[in-house]
Amino acid sequence: MRYTYEPDVEEFRQEVRQFIKENLPPEEVRLQRGYEGGFKSNQEEYDYTMGFQKKLAEKGWLAMAWPKEYGGSGASHMRQLVYNEEMAYNQAPAGNMGIAWVGPSLMLYGTEEQKTKFIPRITSADDWWCTLYSEPGAGSDLAALQTRATRDGDEYVINGQKIWTSGGHLADWGWLAARTDPDAPKHKGITMFMLDMKSPGVTVRPLINMSDRHGFNEVFFEDVRVPASQVVGEVNRGWYHMAVALDFERSGIGAYAGGRRSIERLTKIAKEHPELIERRPSIRTELADRVIEVNVGTILAYRVATMQAKGLVPNHEASASKLFGSEMGQRISLTGMHLLGTFGQLRDGSKHQIIDQATGYLGSVSGTIAAGTSEIQRGIIATRGLGLPRG
Ligand SMILES: Cc1cc2nc3c(=O)[nH]c(=O)nc-3n(C[C@H](O)[C@H](O)[C@H](O)COP(=O)(O)OP(=O)(O)OC[C@H]3O[C@@H](n4cnc5c(N)ncnc54)[C@H](O)[C@@H]3O)c2cc1C
Repeated sequence: MRYTYEPDVEEFRQEVRQFIKENLPPEEVRLQRGYEGGFKSNQEEYDYTMGFQKKLAEKGWLAMAWPKEYGGSGASHMRQLVYNEEMAYNQAPAGNMGIAWVGPSLMLYGTEEQKTKFIPRITSADDWWCTLYSEPGAGSDLAALQTRATRDGDEYVINGQKIWTSGGHLADWGWLAARTDPDAPKHKGITMFMLDMKSPGVTVRPLINMSDRHGFNEVFFEDVRVPASQVVGEVNRGWYHMAVALDFERSGIGAYAGGRRSIERLTKIAKEHPELIERRPSIRTELADRVIEVNVGTILAYRVATMQAKGLVPNHEASASKLFGSEMGQRISLTGMHLLGTFGQLRDGSKHQIIDQATGYLGSVSGTIAAGTSEIQRGIIATRGLGLPRG
């Protein structure tokens, strides 16, 4: 079986490639920056990411999936798939939580005033959004979150703590889930807020991950005042709004496009350094296994995208793509370490380094935790996919 695209989708792919070539630095620089925190300063990361996204916005691509009335172009699911595939393959800084779920949530539940104020700034990449869901005691069991929002006149007062907030140190705005009714059953007392990250009482503290990069943070709220006009949707219905938002981007194609690029790079290194293969001949078959996995996984992602194109809502199918892609990403990184041997341990700046494999290897660990752990994905596939009882 061979997947083919409509000719206009293939043409679009070429246009995206050309755009990336003209608007981003060479691959080696991109790759280094692709690892979160591979920048000299926060400002450099902000400018690199938002500068590129502004160009995407000018081209009409940043919000391409959105309806025209909100500044999108109503692009087909196949165009979006190809766009996401090319961006991930080329390590382009195209990820944007405002586009992924804040904007779509506002379209569904926002007031006219909220849409007018926030949506144009999202589609033009004027604001960096972060997501304030997880807490020290609420990750997989997100409904257990304890951050409190208490009504006081025209405002809410926020107290509590979030954790693992990606880009919290760079964000202008936060998409916050907080508890507004502590007496209601846990899924029924949560409300969504838009929070100005520069508000008095917000403290963002870096969390340095094990590859020594600063990607996520702890965020503390001490009597932070948020206007009631920044509640999104119904008070105490936030859990249900969040559940819908988590369904927006689901194909998981990024893991496979990025994985394919990594295998190509490792294969090139293996060919250029025959001594690495002599030292570990089995690396040839290990790379063969990885390329099979990328091909299999790509079909899992295409399946999700084709379901969406038909108007269906993927569920356990998206979990299968996320699960397989994140675990495959770890296997590819490990294969890279096997190929490079002790050279794989050399980090930035060593003159003997072939590539910085170690940063990617350590970074790949988080893939099976972020956006729903592997155990949670397997649970979804077992119950919703296979109809087995809950464990
Ligand atoms: C790189 C990265 C970026 C992130 N970015 C953000 C962000 O921007 N905003 C944000 O809010 N959060 C973010 N997170 C947090 C992420 O959503 C949580 O880490 C994730 O949901 C898991 O929650 P936890 O860490 O509290 O682990 P826990 O939920 O405490 O899980 C601990 C272990 O128990 C297992 N487990 C838990 N429940 C079950 C169950 N029912 N069945 C079987 N096993 C179970 C888990 O699989 C895991 O192995 C990020 C995480 C990472 C790694």
